[in-house]
Amino acid sequence: MQTSDSLVPQSNHSSSAPPSNQRPATLADFQGFDEHHPPDPKLIDACVHCGFCLTTCPSYRVLGTEMDSPRGRIYLMDAIEEGKAPLSEASVQHFDTCLGCLACTTACPSGVQYDKLIAAMRPQIERNYSRSLPDRLLRHLIFSLFPYPERLRLLLGPLGIYQKSGLQKLVRSLGWLKQISPQLAAMESLLPQVSLKSFQNSIPTLIPAQGQQRYRVGMILGCVQRLFFPDVNEATVRVLTANGCEVVVPPTQGCCSALPAHQGQEQQAQAIARQMIDSFEGTNVDFIIINAAGCGHTLKEYGHILQDDPLYREKAKAFASKVRDVQEFLVTVGLTATLSPLQEQPLTLVYHDACHLLHGQKISVPPRQLLQQIPGVQLREPIDGALCCGSAGVYNMLQPEVAAELGQQKAQNLLATGAQMIASPNPGCSLQIKKHMPDAGKDLAIMHPIELLDYSIRGVQL
Ligand code: SF4
Ligand code: SF4
Repeated sequence: MQTSDSLVPQSNHSSSAPPSNQRPATLADFQGFDEHHPPDPKLIDACVHCGFCLTTCPSYRVLGTEMDSPRGRIYLMDAIEEGKAPLSEASVQHFDTCLGCLACTTACPSGVQYDKLIAAMRPQIERNYSRSLPDRLLRHLIFSLFPYPERLRLLLGPLGIYQKSGLQKLVRSLGWLKQISPQLAAMESLLPQVSLKSFQNSIPTLIPAQGQQRYRVGMILGCVQRLFFPDVNEATVRVLTANGCEVVVPPTQGCCSALPAHQGQEQQAQAIARQMIDSFEGTNVDFIIINAAGCGHTLKEYGHILQDDPLYREKAKAFASKVRDVQEFLVTVGLTATLSPLQEQPLTLVYHDACHLLHGQKISVPPRQLLQQIPGVQLREPIDGALCCGSAGVYNMLQPEVAAELGQQKAQNLLATGAQMIASPNPGCSLQIKKHMPDAGKDLAIMHPIELLDYSIRGVQL
Protein backbone atom coordinates (compact mmCIF):
# COMPACT_ATOMS: atom_id res chain seq x y z
CA MET A 1 0.00 0.00 0.00
CA GLN A 2 1.24 3.50 -0.85
CA THR A 3 1.25 5.42 2.40
CA SER A 4 2.23 8.93 1.36
CA ASP A 5 4.55 10.44 -1.24
CA SER A 6 7.20 11.20 1.32
CA LEU A 7 6.96 7.82 3.03
CA VAL A 8 9.28 6.24 0.53
CA PRO A 9 10.55 2.74 1.23
CA GLN A 10 14.01 2.73 2.80
CA SER A 11 16.45 -0.02 3.57
CA ASN A 12 18.56 -0.96 6.62
CA HIS A 13 15.92 -1.47 9.25
CA SER A 14 17.53 -0.80 12.58
CA SER A 15 16.08 -1.61 15.97
CA SER A 16 18.86 -0.83 18.37
CA ALA A 17 18.24 2.68 19.66
CA PRO A 18 18.71 3.18 23.40
CA PRO A 19 15.73 2.77 25.76
CA SER A 20 15.80 6.40 26.89
CA ASN A 21 14.84 9.79 25.62
CA GLN A 22 18.29 10.05 24.02
CA ARG A 23 17.88 10.66 20.32
CA PRO A 24 19.92 8.65 17.78
CA ALA A 25 22.87 10.47 16.25
CA THR A 26 21.50 10.67 12.73
CA LEU A 27 17.82 11.39 13.11
CA ALA A 28 17.24 11.95 9.42
CA ASP A 29 18.42 8.42 8.72
CA PHE A 30 16.64 6.74 11.61
CA GLN A 31 14.66 3.75 10.42
CA GLY A 32 12.36 1.33 12.19
CA PHE A 33 11.70 1.28 15.90
CA ASP A 34 14.18 1.12 18.75
CA GLU A 35 14.11 -2.00 20.89
CA HIS A 36 12.32 -0.48 23.84
CA HIS A 37 8.74 -1.81 23.61
CA PRO A 38 8.07 -1.18 19.92
CA PRO A 39 4.50 -1.76 18.63
CA ASP A 40 4.08 -5.54 18.81
CA PRO A 41 4.18 -7.05 15.27
CA LYS A 42 1.66 -9.71 16.41
CA LEU A 43 -0.82 -6.98 17.34
CA ILE A 44 -0.15 -5.23 14.03
CA ASP A 45 -0.76 -8.48 12.13
CA ALA A 46 -4.10 -8.99 13.92
CA CYS A 47 -5.60 -6.26 11.74
CA VAL A 48 -7.33 -7.84 8.74
CA HIS A 49 -7.84 -4.43 7.10
CA CYS A 50 -11.64 -4.82 6.97
CA GLY A 51 -12.21 -1.10 7.57
CA PHE A 52 -15.10 -1.51 10.05
CA CYS A 53 -13.33 0.94 12.35
CA LEU A 54 -13.08 3.76 9.84
CA THR A 55 -16.43 5.48 10.37
CA THR A 56 -16.05 5.37 14.15
CA CYS A 57 -12.70 7.19 13.97
CA PRO A 58 -13.03 10.94 14.60
CA SER A 59 -9.81 11.90 12.79
CA TYR A 60 -10.92 9.92 9.73
CA ARG A 61 -14.36 11.50 9.90
CA VAL A 62 -12.84 15.01 9.82
CA LEU A 63 -9.80 14.53 7.59
CA GLY A 64 -11.18 11.79 5.33
CA THR A 65 -7.77 10.27 4.61
CA GLU A 66 -6.90 6.61 5.02
CA MET A 67 -3.65 7.42 6.81
CA ASP A 68 -5.62 9.29 9.47
CA SER A 69 -7.70 6.21 10.24
CA PRO A 70 -6.89 3.30 12.57
CA ARG A 71 -6.31 0.98 9.60
CA GLY A 72 -4.01 3.50 7.92
CA ARG A 73 -2.00 4.03 11.08
CA ILE A 74 -1.62 0.28 11.57
CA TYR A 75 -0.36 0.00 7.97
CA LEU A 76 2.07 2.77 8.73
CA MET A 77 3.35 1.10 11.91
CA ASP A 78 3.86 -2.06 9.87
CA ALA A 79 5.79 -0.16 7.19
CA ILE A 80 7.98 1.53 9.82
CA GLU A 81 8.53 -1.77 11.60
CA GLU A 82 9.69 -3.36 8.34
CA GLY A 83 11.90 -0.39 7.51
CA LYS A 84 9.77 0.54 4.49
CA ALA A 85 8.79 3.95 5.85
CA PRO A 86 10.76 6.37 8.01
CA LEU A 87 9.76 8.18 11.17
CA SER A 88 9.48 11.44 9.29
CA GLU A 89 7.32 14.54 9.54
CA ALA A 90 4.93 12.98 7.01
CA SER A 91 4.46 9.79 9.01
CA VAL A 92 4.47 11.37 12.47
CA GLN A 93 1.67 13.79 11.56
CA HIS A 94 -0.68 10.83 11.01
CA PHE A 95 -0.04 9.60 14.54
CA ASP A 96 -0.35 13.12 15.93
CA THR A 97 -3.84 13.41 14.44
CA CYS A 98 -4.97 10.33 16.41
CA LEU A 99 -7.04 11.47 19.39
CA GLY A 100 -6.36 8.29 21.33
CA CYS A 101 -10.12 8.05 21.85
CA LEU A 102 -10.02 4.24 21.42
CA ALA A 103 -13.33 4.14 19.53
CA CYS A 104 -11.61 1.81 17.07
CA THR A 105 -11.03 -0.77 19.82
CA THR A 106 -14.76 -0.83 20.51
CA ALA A 107 -15.61 -1.12 16.80
CA CYS A 108 -13.04 -3.70 15.70
CA PRO A 109 -14.59 -7.16 15.17
CA SER A 110 -11.12 -8.76 15.17
CA GLY A 111 -10.22 -7.42 18.60
CA VAL A 112 -7.21 -5.46 17.39
CA GLN A 113 -5.60 -3.82 20.41
CA TYR A 114 -5.00 -0.42 18.89
CA ASP A 115 -4.76 1.04 22.41
CA LYS A 116 -1.58 -0.98 23.02
CA LEU A 117 -0.25 -0.15 19.56
CA ILE A 118 -0.65 3.61 19.85
CA ALA A 119 0.63 3.55 23.46
CA ALA A 120 3.82 1.87 22.17
CA MET A 121 4.03 4.12 19.11
CA ARG A 122 4.00 7.49 20.85
CA PRO A 123 7.16 7.03 22.99
CA GLN A 124 8.96 5.74 19.87
CA ILE A 125 8.13 9.04 18.18
CA GLU A 126 9.23 11.13 21.15
CA ARG A 127 12.56 9.26 21.38
CA ASN A 128 13.37 8.92 17.72
CA TYR A 129 11.86 11.86 15.89
CA SER A 130 12.96 15.46 16.26
CA ARG A 131 9.96 17.79 16.32
CA SER A 132 10.11 21.36 15.01
CA LEU A 133 11.24 24.05 17.46
CA PRO A 134 7.76 25.67 17.89
CA ASP A 135 6.22 22.24 18.46
CA ARG A 136 8.92 21.37 21.01
CA LEU A 137 8.43 24.67 22.84
CA LEU A 138 4.65 24.27 23.00
CA ARG A 139 4.94 20.70 24.25
CA HIS A 140 7.56 21.74 26.79
CA LEU A 141 5.18 24.40 28.11
CA ILE A 142 2.33 21.89 28.36
CA PHE A 143 4.34 19.11 30.00
CA SER A 144 6.12 21.34 32.47
CA LEU A 145 2.87 22.96 33.58
CA PHE A 146 -0.29 20.87 33.37
CA PRO A 147 0.81 17.73 35.25
CA TYR A 148 1.88 19.81 38.27
CA PRO A 149 -1.08 21.20 40.25
CA GLU A 150 1.19 23.32 42.48
CA ARG A 151 2.69 25.05 39.42
CA LEU A 152 -0.78 25.55 37.99
CA ARG A 153 -1.87 27.01 41.32
CA LEU A 154 0.81 29.72 41.00
CA LEU A 155 -0.83 30.84 37.78
CA LEU A 156 -4.28 31.27 39.31
CA GLY A 157 -3.64 34.86 40.47
CA PRO A 158 -2.38 36.21 37.12
CA LEU A 159 -5.07 34.21 35.34
CA GLY A 160 -7.82 35.67 37.55
CA ILE A 161 -6.53 39.21 36.87
CA TYR A 162 -6.38 38.45 33.14
CA GLN A 163 -10.00 37.28 33.18
CA LYS A 164 -11.47 39.94 35.47
CA SER A 165 -9.57 42.99 34.16
CA GLY A 166 -11.11 42.80 30.70
CA LEU A 167 -7.78 41.85 29.13
CA GLN A 168 -9.18 38.45 28.13
CA LYS A 169 -12.07 40.11 26.28
CA LEU A 170 -9.67 42.42 24.50
CA VAL A 171 -7.30 39.61 23.47
CA ARG A 172 -10.21 37.57 22.16
CA SER A 173 -11.78 40.45 20.25
CA LEU A 174 -8.50 41.41 18.58
CA GLY A 175 -7.82 37.82 17.48
CA TRP A 176 -4.04 38.39 17.30
CA LEU A 177 -3.19 35.29 19.28
CA LYS A 178 -4.66 33.06 16.57
CA GLN A 179 -2.39 34.67 14.01
CA ILE A 180 0.68 34.23 16.22
CA SER A 181 -0.12 30.62 17.17
CA PRO A 182 -3.41 28.75 16.61
CA GLN A 183 -2.33 26.34 19.36
CA LEU A 184 -1.82 29.12 21.94
CA ALA A 185 -5.13 30.67 20.88
CA ALA A 186 -6.84 27.30 21.39
CA MET A 187 -5.25 27.01 24.83
CA GLU A 188 -6.48 30.49 25.74
CA SER A 189 -9.99 29.82 24.46
CA LEU A 190 -10.29 26.79 26.75
CA LEU A 191 -9.23 28.58 29.95
CA PRO A 192 -11.67 27.70 32.73
CA GLN A 193 -12.94 30.51 34.94
CA VAL A 194 -10.88 31.10 38.06
CA SER A 195 -13.06 31.31 41.17
CA LEU A 196 -12.25 32.04 44.80
CA LYS A 197 -12.63 28.32 45.51
CA SER A 198 -9.76 27.61 43.10
CA PHE A 199 -7.38 29.19 45.64
CA GLN A 200 -8.63 27.13 48.57
CA ASN A 201 -7.73 23.62 49.50
CA SER A 202 -11.15 22.77 50.82
CA ILE A 203 -10.97 18.99 51.17
CA PRO A 204 -9.65 17.51 54.44
CA THR A 205 -7.35 14.50 54.40
CA LEU A 206 -9.84 12.23 56.19
CA ILE A 207 -13.62 12.50 55.99
CA PRO A 208 -15.70 10.05 58.05
CA ALA A 209 -18.56 8.03 56.61
CA GLN A 210 -22.08 9.13 57.45
CA GLY A 211 -23.83 6.41 59.39
CA GLN A 212 -22.54 2.86 59.21
CA GLN A 213 -19.13 2.67 57.48
CA ARG A 214 -19.16 0.25 54.54
CA TYR A 215 -15.81 1.03 52.87
CA ARG A 216 -12.64 3.01 53.34
CA VAL A 217 -11.77 4.60 50.01
CA GLY A 218 -8.98 6.83 48.73
CA MET A 219 -9.78 9.73 46.46
CA ILE A 220 -7.75 11.17 43.59
CA LEU A 221 -8.14 14.93 43.25
CA GLY A 222 -6.89 15.40 39.67
CA CYS A 223 -5.04 18.50 38.45
CA VAL A 224 -7.58 20.49 36.44
CA GLN A 225 -10.40 19.07 38.58
CA ARG A 226 -8.99 20.26 41.92
CA LEU A 227 -8.19 23.79 40.69
CA PHE A 228 -10.95 24.59 38.24
CA PHE A 229 -13.77 22.19 39.17
CA PRO A 230 -13.48 22.06 42.99
CA ASP A 231 -17.27 21.63 43.26
CA VAL A 232 -16.99 18.24 41.54
CA ASN A 233 -14.44 16.99 44.08
CA GLU A 234 -16.49 18.31 47.01
CA ALA A 235 -19.61 16.65 45.58
CA THR A 236 -17.70 13.37 45.18
CA VAL A 237 -16.66 13.40 48.84
CA ARG A 238 -20.23 14.14 49.98
CA VAL A 239 -21.75 11.40 47.80
CA LEU A 240 -19.18 8.84 48.96
CA THR A 241 -19.58 9.67 52.64
CA ALA A 242 -23.38 9.77 52.34
CA ASN A 243 -23.17 6.24 50.99
CA GLY A 244 -21.14 4.83 53.85
CA CYS A 245 -17.55 5.51 52.73
CA GLU A 246 -14.77 6.90 54.85
CA VAL A 247 -12.72 8.99 52.41
CA VAL A 248 -8.93 9.31 52.59
CA VAL A 249 -7.33 12.12 50.54
CA PRO A 250 -3.51 11.92 50.72
CA PRO A 251 -2.25 15.52 50.58
CA THR A 252 0.98 14.56 48.78
CA GLN A 253 -0.80 13.29 45.67
CA GLY A 254 0.00 15.03 42.39
CA CYS A 255 -1.06 14.27 38.83
CA CYS A 256 -2.22 10.83 37.67
CA SER A 257 0.23 11.00 34.69
CA ALA A 258 -2.48 10.73 31.99
CA LEU A 259 -1.21 13.72 30.09
CA PRO A 260 2.44 12.65 29.65
CA ALA A 261 1.40 8.99 29.25
CA HIS A 262 -0.98 9.79 26.38
CA GLN A 263 1.65 11.89 24.63
CA GLY A 264 4.50 9.36 24.81
CA GLN A 265 6.44 11.15 27.58
CA GLU A 266 7.28 7.81 29.11
CA GLN A 267 9.84 8.72 31.76
CA GLN A 268 7.79 11.66 33.03
CA ALA A 269 4.67 9.48 33.19
CA GLN A 270 6.58 6.84 35.17
CA ALA A 271 7.97 9.38 37.66
CA ILE A 272 4.53 10.87 38.27
CA ALA A 273 2.91 7.44 38.62
CA ARG A 274 5.51 6.44 41.24
CA GLN A 275 4.74 9.58 43.22
CA MET A 276 1.01 8.81 43.13
CA ILE A 277 1.61 5.24 44.33
CA ASP A 278 3.85 6.53 47.15
CA SER A 279 1.22 9.01 48.27
CA PHE A 280 -1.27 6.18 48.84
CA GLU A 281 1.30 3.92 50.55
CA GLY A 282 0.03 2.69 53.91
CA THR A 283 -3.44 4.20 53.56
CA ASN A 284 -5.08 0.76 53.63
CA VAL A 285 -7.96 1.77 51.43
CA ASP A 286 -10.35 -0.76 49.87
CA PHE A 287 -10.64 1.20 46.62
CA ILE A 288 -9.12 4.27 44.98
CA ILE A 289 -11.81 6.49 43.51
CA ILE A 290 -11.46 8.87 40.59
CA ASN A 291 -14.12 11.14 39.09
CA ALA A 292 -12.37 12.09 35.81
CA ALA A 293 -12.60 9.65 32.90
CA GLY A 294 -9.17 10.28 31.37
CA CYS A 295 -7.37 10.01 34.71
CA GLY A 296 -9.22 6.79 35.60
CA HIS A 297 -8.11 5.08 32.43
CA THR A 298 -4.44 5.92 33.09
CA LEU A 299 -4.60 4.97 36.78
CA LYS A 300 -5.86 1.53 35.74
CA GLU A 301 -2.82 1.26 33.42
CA TYR A 302 -0.17 1.76 36.12
CA GLY A 303 0.86 -1.91 35.93
CA HIS A 304 1.73 -1.36 32.28
CA ILE A 305 3.32 2.07 32.75
CA LEU A 306 5.70 0.69 35.41
CA GLN A 307 6.17 -2.78 33.91
CA ASP A 308 9.97 -2.35 33.69
CA ASP A 309 10.46 -1.04 37.21
CA PRO A 310 11.34 -3.93 39.53
CA LEU A 311 10.70 -1.81 42.62
CA TYR A 312 7.30 -0.55 41.59
CA ARG A 313 5.94 -3.20 39.18
CA GLU A 314 3.94 -5.15 41.79
CA LYS A 315 2.95 -2.04 43.75
CA ALA A 316 1.66 -0.52 40.50
CA LYS A 317 -0.44 -3.59 39.72
CA ALA A 318 -1.86 -3.60 43.26
CA PHE A 319 -2.66 0.11 43.02
CA ALA A 320 -4.32 -0.26 39.59
CA SER A 321 -6.45 -3.17 40.82
CA LYS A 322 -8.06 -0.86 43.40
CA VAL A 323 -8.89 1.99 41.01
CA ARG A 324 -12.58 2.56 40.28
CA ASP A 325 -14.39 5.31 38.46
CA VAL A 326 -16.75 6.84 41.02
CA GLN A 327 -19.83 5.94 38.98
CA GLU A 328 -18.64 2.38 38.41
CA PHE A 329 -18.02 2.09 42.16
CA LEU A 330 -21.36 3.48 43.27
CA VAL A 331 -23.36 1.24 40.95
CA THR A 332 -21.38 -1.81 42.10
CA VAL A 333 -21.80 -1.17 45.84
CA GLY A 334 -25.29 0.34 45.52
CA LEU A 335 -26.60 3.67 46.79
CA THR A 336 -27.83 3.75 50.36
CA ALA A 337 -28.63 7.48 50.51
CA THR A 338 -32.13 8.67 49.67
CA LEU A 339 -32.55 10.67 46.45
CA SER A 340 -34.97 13.52 45.82
CA PRO A 341 -36.04 15.28 42.61
CA LEU A 342 -33.84 18.09 41.30
CA GLN A 343 -36.82 20.22 40.27
CA GLU A 344 -40.58 20.05 40.45
CA GLN A 345 -40.99 19.28 36.76
CA PRO A 346 -39.32 16.27 35.11
CA LEU A 347 -35.70 17.05 34.16
CA THR A 348 -34.45 16.04 30.72
CA LEU A 349 -30.74 15.28 30.72
CA VAL A 350 -28.31 14.21 28.04
CA TYR A 351 -25.32 12.22 29.25
CA HIS A 352 -22.10 12.77 27.29
CA ASP A 353 -19.98 9.63 26.97
CA ALA A 354 -16.33 10.49 27.64
CA CYS A 355 -14.12 8.30 25.44
CA HIS A 356 -11.86 7.12 28.24
CA LEU A 357 -14.88 5.86 30.13
CA LEU A 358 -16.84 4.48 27.18
CA HIS A 359 -14.03 3.02 25.04
CA GLY A 360 -11.10 3.04 27.47
CA GLN A 361 -12.85 1.50 30.49
CA LYS A 362 -15.99 0.15 28.78
CA ILE A 363 -18.17 2.07 31.25
CA SER A 364 -21.36 3.39 29.69
CA VAL A 365 -24.27 1.91 31.66
CA PRO A 366 -23.34 2.86 35.28
CA PRO A 367 -23.48 6.67 34.80
CA ARG A 368 -26.89 6.31 33.13
CA GLN A 369 -28.11 3.97 35.88
CA LEU A 370 -27.11 6.47 38.54
CA LEU A 371 -28.76 9.41 36.79
CA GLN A 372 -31.94 7.43 36.23
CA GLN A 373 -32.19 6.72 39.94
CA ILE A 374 -32.73 10.45 40.55
CA PRO A 375 -36.52 10.93 40.67
CA GLY A 376 -37.87 12.85 37.67
CA VAL A 377 -34.76 12.49 35.47
CA GLN A 378 -35.42 11.55 31.86
CA LEU A 379 -32.35 10.67 29.81
CA ARG A 380 -32.02 11.54 26.16
CA GLU A 381 -29.43 9.99 23.82
CA PRO A 382 -27.56 12.08 21.24
CA ILE A 383 -26.72 10.88 17.76
CA ASP A 384 -23.07 9.87 17.35
CA GLY A 385 -22.77 9.64 21.13
CA ALA A 386 -19.69 7.41 20.84
CA LEU A 387 -17.78 9.95 18.74
CA CYS A 388 -15.07 11.94 20.51
CA CYS A 389 -15.78 15.62 21.36
CA GLY A 390 -12.26 16.58 20.28
CA SER A 391 -10.94 17.35 23.75
CA ALA A 392 -8.74 14.24 24.15
CA GLY A 393 -6.40 15.55 26.84
CA VAL A 394 -4.38 18.30 25.17
CA TYR A 395 -5.38 17.34 21.62
CA ASN A 396 -7.59 20.43 21.32
CA MET A 397 -4.49 22.53 22.00
CA LEU A 398 -2.12 20.61 19.73
CA GLN A 399 -4.54 19.97 16.83
CA PRO A 400 -7.02 22.85 17.15
CA GLU A 401 -8.64 22.61 13.71
CA VAL A 402 -9.67 18.95 13.91
CA ALA A 403 -10.67 19.41 17.55
CA ALA A 404 -12.85 22.43 16.70
CA GLU A 405 -14.79 20.53 14.06
CA LEU A 406 -15.40 17.65 16.45
CA GLY A 407 -16.35 20.05 19.25
CA GLN A 408 -18.92 21.77 17.05
CA GLN A 409 -20.42 18.44 15.96
CA LYS A 410 -20.62 17.23 19.55
CA ALA A 411 -22.25 20.43 20.81
CA GLN A 412 -24.82 20.33 18.00
CA ASN A 413 -25.65 16.68 18.64
CA LEU A 414 -26.06 17.21 22.38
CA LEU A 415 -28.24 20.31 21.88
CA ALA A 416 -30.34 18.55 19.24
CA THR A 417 -31.67 16.20 21.92
CA GLY A 418 -33.61 19.13 23.39
CA ALA A 419 -32.36 18.21 26.87
CA GLN A 420 -32.37 20.90 29.56
CA MET A 421 -28.91 20.06 30.82
CA ILE A 422 -25.74 18.10 29.94
CA ALA A 423 -24.07 15.62 32.29
CA SER A 424 -20.36 15.16 31.52
CA PRO A 425 -17.97 12.93 33.50
CA ASN A 426 -14.68 14.51 32.40
CA PRO A 427 -13.40 18.08 32.93
CA GLY A 428 -11.68 18.27 29.52
CA CYS A 429 -14.88 17.25 27.71
CA SER A 430 -16.90 19.79 29.73
CA LEU A 431 -14.56 22.63 28.74
CA GLN A 432 -14.58 21.57 25.09
CA ILE A 433 -18.38 21.28 24.90
CA LYS A 434 -18.85 24.57 26.74
CA LYS A 435 -16.52 26.30 24.29
CA HIS A 436 -18.48 25.11 21.24
CA MET A 437 -22.06 25.40 22.49
CA PRO A 438 -22.49 29.12 21.68
CA ASP A 439 -21.57 28.37 18.02
CA ALA A 440 -24.36 25.79 18.04
CA GLY A 441 -26.83 28.42 19.23
CA LYS A 442 -27.34 27.64 22.95
CA ASP A 443 -25.43 27.54 26.20
CA LEU A 444 -26.79 24.78 28.45
CA ALA A 445 -25.51 24.11 31.94
CA ILE A 446 -23.00 21.24 32.14
CA MET A 447 -22.57 19.33 35.37
CA HIS A 448 -20.72 16.19 36.39
CA PRO A 449 -23.16 13.32 37.12
CA ILE A 450 -21.78 13.17 40.65
CA GLU A 451 -22.79 16.81 41.24
CA LEU A 452 -26.36 15.99 40.23
CA LEU A 453 -26.34 13.01 42.54
CA ASP A 454 -25.00 15.22 45.34
CA TYR A 455 -27.79 17.77 44.81
CA SER A 456 -30.30 14.97 44.83
CA ILE A 457 -28.98 13.50 48.09
CA ARG A 458 -28.93 16.92 49.77
CA GLY A 459 -32.35 17.89 48.44
CA VAL A 460 -30.93 20.92 46.59
CA GLN A 461 -33.05 22.13 43.67
CA LEU A 462 -31.42 23.20 40.41
S1 SF4 B 1 -8.44 -2.30 13.19
FE1 SF4 B 1 -10.01 -3.88 13.23
S2 SF4 B 1 -11.81 -2.90 12.29
FE2 SF4 B 1 -10.02 -1.64 11.75
S3 SF4 B 1 -9.36 -2.43 9.77
FE3 SF4 B 1 -8.17 -3.53 11.33
S4 SF4 B 1 -9.34 -5.40 11.73
FE4 SF4 B 1 -10.73 -4.01 10.64
S1 SF4 C 1 -7.90 6.10 18.84
FE1 SF4 C 1 -9.63 7.30 18.00
S2 SF4 C 1 -8.66 8.78 16.62
FE2 SF4 C 1 -7.11 7.20 17.05
S3 SF4 C 1 -7.35 5.71 15.40
FE3 SF4 C 1 -8.65 4.98 17.05
S4 SF4 C 1 -10.69 5.85 16.60
FE4 SF4 C 1 -9.18 7.00 15.37
